[in-house]
Amino acid sequence: MQELFAPWRFAYVSNAGASSDCVLCAAAGMGDETLTLARGERTFALLNRFPYTSGHTMVAPVAHVADLCELDAATLADLMGLVQRVVRAVRQVYQPHGFNVGFNLGEAAGAGIADHLHLHVVPRWRGDTNFMAVTADVRVLPEDLSVTRAKLRRALEVTGG
Ligand SMILES: [Zn+2]
Repeated sequence: MQELFAPWRFAYVSNAGASSDCVLCAAAGMGDETLTLARGERTFALLNRFPYTSGHTMVAPVAHVADLCELDAATLADLMGLVQRVVRAVRQVYQPHGFNVGFNLGEAAGAGIADHLHLHVVPRWRGDTNFMAVTADVRVLPEDLSVTRAKLRRALEVTGG
């Protein structure tokens, strides 16, 4: 899929190669220069670099775990608690009509990073159904990611833990 507006893409591609085997592990280990939005005790939330809609966030365990069935109860609880915080913040900032929240487990199911479990939080609006992607194989990013990040981090601080 072609991106219309992707000034960050070059940096992403050049970082993703030899420096780290796992994009999510690398993001979890970095500080504020990444797209990380918030952290739980065992989990973290970060913006998706190729969002379907503004506010598209991923929530993942810090541990490099591929299988949902291997997550312990405490990490699962922490993960869902962080999902709640993200949903609250996205609601407050973007007022979407709904959300898709879920896992793609395995490459066959569409997981882009199959080795490190992550849950997608995708805000949805009536009529947003990939209108450009369907007709032109082009995706329009409605907002710069740094803007999205600033808005959501502020909202996450306001809504608290
Ligand atoms: Zn990892």
